[in-house]
Amino acid sequence: MKKYFSFALILIMGCFLFVGCGNQDLVAKASSNVNNYEIVANLDYQNKTLQATENIEYKNRSEKVLQEIKFHLHPNAFSADAEKNKSVSEAQFERAYPNGFSEGNITIESVKVNNNPVEFEIEPEEKQILTVPTGVLNPNQTVEIEIQFSLTIPCVHHRFGYGEDTLNLGNWYPIACVLEEDGFFDGGYSPTGDPFYSDLANYNVTLTYDKNLTLVSTGELLKESEENNKKTSSYRALAVRDFAMVLSEKFEVKTATVENVTVNYYYYDDEKSDENLNTAINALNTFNEMIGQYPYSVLNVVKTDFLHGGMEYPMLVYISDDITQDSEYTNVIVHEIAHQWWYGIVGDNETAYGWIDEGLAEYSTALFYDKNSQYGLTSEEVISNSLSAYLLFCDVYREVYDNLDTSMNRSLYNFNTETEYVYLTYVKGVLMFDSVADLIGDAKMEKCLKTFYEDNAMKFATPTTLIQSFEKASGKNLQSFIISWLDGSVVLEQING
Ligand SMILES: [Zn+2]
Repeated sequence: MKKYFSFALILIMGCFLFVGCGNQDLVAKASSNVNNYEIVANLDYQNKTLQATENIEYKNRSEKVLQEIKFHLHPNAFSADAEKNKSVSEAQFERAYPNGFSEGNITIESVKVNNNPVEFEIEPEEKQILTVPTGVLNPNQTVEIEIQFSLTIPCVHHRFGYGEDTLNLGNWYPIACVLEEDGFFDGGYSPTGDPFYSDLANYNVTLTYDKNLTLVSTGELLKESEENNKKTSSYRALAVRDFAMVLSEKFEVKTATVENVTVNYYYYDDEKSDENLNTAINALNTFNEMIGQYPYSVLNVVKTDFLHGGMEYPMLVYISDDITQDSEYTNVIVHEIAHQWWYGIVGDNETAYGWIDEGLAEYSTALFYDKNSQYGLTSEEVISNSLSAYLLFCDVYREVYDNLDTSMNRSLYNFNTETEYVYLTYVKGVLMFDSVADLIGDAKMEKCLKTFYEDNAMKFATPTTLIQSFEKASGKNLQSFIISWLDGSVVLEQING
């Protein structure tokens, strides 16, 4: 099967960007009513282990009485015990693990609630959900939870893992599950898509590590000190959905300032570092103008050992060092930066609605080329290539499966392969947003993007809120049109026959 898809677009798994400083009120306002995480951690780089104490100030913002709080334990997706919710598919195994399988996991050492030790539970099969009993937690009541944990960091080119060049700490600490109407959302990891869904929170993170390493982190550096061969750095990030760090002995950095936002490009082995920093600057400027002002103060673009094209975290994006083509490297930088708006500032349940953040990141990237003609590409070419690739995918898939399901509104756990997910989320996603633009005109489409951003910034978007914002901005009834794309009933044909 894999050879059929050698033409496939490289998986772009994540994209997160930052909006700079013109919009700090958005952060200040959002940060005043979210949970607080404080993590103090010590990295043993030699042994690739980490010990940490995490304190969470958690407020019950629901209208129900809670008795427990659930947390994701994403690092256990890298354990040999992971089956249903593992991090790497068979098809990607050799690329992910160049030296063979390597164990990764998280061990919960102890949990305290309001300073009292408690008996916690870990879901026994995949070990990816931690349940902390809190006693009665009334609406608006706050509880203090302390979690002591240790990590075994695997040798894998992934969000969480290390390779020859970098050590990646993405999705590395217990993070509270989102509380929905019917309880905590406890969907596990998946090798397909970005299996994440998390609330905005404020973070204070302090890491001690070997001083020959360069640390790149979500957030703003608060303080730094050195003792013997160790360095300790403290970072703070307000109103972000996650907190990631990357370390390397090899990093060089180039820095620029864009309207009070510090843009850093961390890299190794890159003769085009100036061009790549410029692409990050151009993306930030373009999306500030096109969508809304980036509200954070830092944006780190980080070259990493990573098997997919890139990955978005708040204020920090991974760019894979596997990418050999300059045009693709550029594309991934822009796509990941677009995610700062679509996933970061406007959140969504990525396991349920990947087409929202991935489709909009792809569509924003296509528009980026129209506004930055120096890259020699237009959105028309991007769309035409996407349509050809999508139709070819459909032809090939119909030969393999009797029934090709072209619906986009499926949970990522319900796609047959990573390829199917990429075509129906990224590729069909960009085609759908382009077809909406065809229907309402480019000017109204830009208004839709801005309105959707304004209506949903620092919140979770859903298909319903997207359609509402698009209808409000365009003055057109778009619901049945968009739903026909999502449910797979729209029929696509090659342009010009
Ligand atoms: Zn993406």
